Order: sequence, then C-alpha cells, then structure tokens
Amino acid sequence: MAGWAGEDGEDGAQTDFCVVGAGPAGLTVTLLLLRSGARVTLVERSASQTRAYRGEILQPGGLRILDALGVLGPARAGGCHELDGFQLLEGGRVVLDSDYRRLPAPWNHLLSIPQEQVLGELLARCRRYRGFTLVDGSRVTRLHRRAGRVSAVVAAGRGGQRRITAHCFVAADGRYSKTRSLAGIAAGRDDVFEHDVLWFKVPAHGRLPRRVRIERAGGNPVLTYPSGAGHVQIGWLLPHRTYGALAARGVEHVKDLICAAVPQYADEVRRGVRALTDLTLLDVFASCAPQWAQDGLLLIGDSAHTHSPVGAQGINLALQDAVAAHPVLMASLRRQDATARFLQRYTGPRRRDIRRVMRIQRAQSSLMLSTGRLTGTVRPALAGLVSRTPLYRQILRQIAFGNRQIRISSQLFTDTYESVEQECV
Ligand SMILES: Cc1cc2nc3c(=O)[nH]c(=O)nc-3n(C[C@H](O)[C@H](O)[C@H](O)COP(=O)(O)OP(=O)(O)OC[C@H]3O[C@@H](n4cnc5c(N)ncnc54)[C@H](O)[C@@H]3O)c2cc1C
Repeated sequence: MAGWAGEDGEDGAQTDFCVVGAGPAGLTVTLLLLRSGARVTLVERSASQTRAYRGEILQPGGLRILDALGVLGPARAGGCHELDGFQLLEGGRVVLDSDYRRLPAPWNHLLSIPQEQVLGELLARCRRYRGFTLVDGSRVTRLHRRAGRVSAVVAAGRGGQRRITAHCFVAADGRYSKTRSLAGIAAGRDDVFEHDVLWFKVPAHGRLPRRVRIERAGGNPVLTYPSGAGHVQIGWLLPHRTYGALAARGVEHVKDLICAAVPQYADEVRRGVRALTDLTLLDVFASCAPQWAQDGLLLIGDSAHTHSPVGAQGINLALQDAVAAHPVLMASLRRQDATARFLQRYTGPRRRDIRRVMRIQRAQSSLMLSTGRLTGTVRPALAGLVSRTPLYRQILRQIAFGNRQIRISSQLFTDTYESVEQECV
C-alpha cells in the first residue's frame, strides 16, 4: 500500500506517484494511475470538496472524458444544466451564436455543473483502490532534491508535517502553484486580457437561458449562465486591476454599478448581495510556465498553463492534460525514468495544443470583449461574418473538444470493476 512519510527529516515510505492538488487535473490523473495499478499519494490543501468558486462550464471534450471514467452520470445526478452554446449580444441583438447543437451527438452541448459534484465523484472512485492515500487538509510547503532530482515534498497540515517520497511528483495545484514556485519555475504570466471578472449568483426566478451569454449594452460586458438549483451565475467584467478602488468605496457602490450593468437582475442583486464576500473576483490572465518538467516533477493543469474564462477552457484542458500525461507517467514508472527528458514525451506535444488554444482565446477575447479598436458598430458585422465561415466551424470544434487525438489509455488499466465506455467522437 502507498505509504506516507514519517516526520520531516526522515525518509518517508516510497510511493509511485505523489500528486499535489485534488482539482480536476490532480484527481483525474490520480484515478488513471490507480486504475493502472500504480500507488498514488494525493496531497490536497482543502479538507473537503468545497472550493472557492472556480467555474462550472464543461466543454464536450471534458464531458466525454468524465463519461468514459463513469463519473459523469453520478456527478450529473446532483443537478446540472445542459446548454446549447455561447451567444454574444450587442444592445439586446444576437451578433454571434456558437451553436453546439451542430456538433455530433451526444457531445453537442455544454454542461453547467458545480465542481464539487465532479470532484466528489472522482474522489469516490479513487477511494476504491488500495494504492490510494489521501493526505487532505495539508499543503505542500517544501520540496527536496537528491542529486538534482525532485525526491520528496513536505506537506504541512492537521497531522503536522509529513515528508512524502515518490518516483515522480505531479504538480496539479492550480494557477498559483506552490509546487511550481518551490521548483523555481516561473508562472510565465502574460496580462494580455483587458478585464477581470466579478462572479456572483442570483436566483433566476424561472429565467434560465439555454446559452452562456455575453451581453454588451454600452457598459462593461456581462456573462450569464444557469447554475445550481434555479440560479443564474453572473460574471461582470471590469477593467483589469480596477476592482480594489471600487471595493474601497463599499458594497453599496459596487452593487449600484452591477445593477446598472444587469438591470434585469437588479432586484436580485439588491436583495442577494449583502457583502463584498458574496462576490468572487477572478484576476484574469493567461500564463504558460516556461518549463513543465524537471527531473522527478511534472506540471499539469493550471499550474502549467492558466487561461482566461472566455470559451471555458480551463477544466477541459486540465482533464485532457491528465489523460495525455497518464501513459507517459506509467511508462516512466515501468522504466524507472522520471527525467525531464523522458517526461518531454508529454510536454512536447501538449505545449503545441496549449499554444493553439491560447491563440484562439486571444482572438475570441478581442472579438467579444475588446473596448479598443473594435467599436460597437464594427463588432456585430465582424462577428456575424466570422460565424458563417467554415474556419469558424473548425474553431468551434477545437474549442469544444480540444485535441481530439487525446484518448484515455484504457489498455493500461489493470482493474476490472468497470470498463471504459465507448468514446464517441
Ligand atoms: C472564478 C473562476 C471561474 C472559472 N470558470 C471556468 C469555467 O466556467 N470553465 C472552465 O473550464 N474553467 C473555468 N475556470 C478555470 C478552471 O477552474 C481551472 O482551469 C481548473 O479548475 C484547473 O484545474 P486544476 O486541477 O489544474 O487546478 P485547480 O482546480 O485550481 O485545483 C488545484 C487544487 O490544488 C489545491 N492546492 C493548491 N495549493 C496547494 C498546496 N500547496 N498543497 C496542496 N494542495 C494545493 C487546491 O486546493 C485545489 O484543490 C475558472 C476559474 C476561476 C478562478
């Protein structure tokens, strides 16, 4: 059984993989490795599946992976909303309609689903394996090297300090990855986006649109989509790094501005938002770490690359990272080679995928959100034109599925409790 370590300073029991972070990337890679017979220790800062709001829109590519792992059905049972695509509205008029119903069934929709439901199901599946050790309520605070190779991490939490040694460490601890910074790898942050997003939920009172909407009515753009039981999630976009000054003027001032931006939900905002803590600010940036692997360490998900919320790519890419990294990690265990050079079998091709996604997101951002060159007059015409081209249909498939060559390597599975379902796309 995967052991965990003794007190810091002693050598801990050797496990095959230590994954840091139980988000979508960390839990998925953990499950895939466990199903392939590996021993995995998962270190997670939080002691529950409840996380700060981190988005709920899943793309078809991510849904397909979760379905193939048997996770999607049970996660959906907790409540979710199927959505038909994205819409850009300018002054109440639809100027761009990304209709997912044009994609091949059954993966022809987006899904709005609370992350806890997905994370809870993934974790429940991990718990079925004897090779699984969860060190929750503990955060990685130190990283040790032996002969230049990452050989151990120290996790500090409820049970004191634990030192965990492993064949290879997988950093899946998100956009502000501690593991990445302990390894001396820069985030590669690029402030290319003009906006941050202030997220909050209000009761929908029956007004549940079937699309993720980006609405512009002269002021700051607003994102809306159905979320949870009878609620609408609202994302108010505001110029980068201006929220601090607004918040300093108090919650009533912020509420006035939000009500002006979403007059249709003004009553709900007035009643429902009581304190600034009811609002979650997303500092929007893109990042791509210059290095995704060192000897003994691999970065996946947001810790390697972070995305703007435009086009809802983060969870999808995190899940696909896990699926793409899985066969390389298993091969590295078989060959006892976790050098950065070996791990490049994953990082090389995956970097190309991520660069492509980043280019598309930048184009989407300038088309939909820019307040500069693209005026309210040019944007509708351009958006309409773009959406009718075959290139746009290709881009829509790319946004929806990512790299379609990435498939679960189920031939590596050693368990029998459940077979991977047929993948359809
Ligand atoms: C407000 C917001 C809205 C978003 N909306 C969407 C959306 O609609 N659709 C979409 O696809 N993406 C969205 N995203 C992005 C998406 O949430 C991320 O891309 C995705 O969660 C990345 O998954 P991950 O597993 O790499 O990292 P995370 O989900 O960030 O998971 C990292 C995990 O590591 C843990 N951790 C952190 N530090 C440590 C440590 N030192 N030790 C141990 N554990 C640690 C954290 O507790 C967390 O559980 C949004 C993000 C935000 C912030």
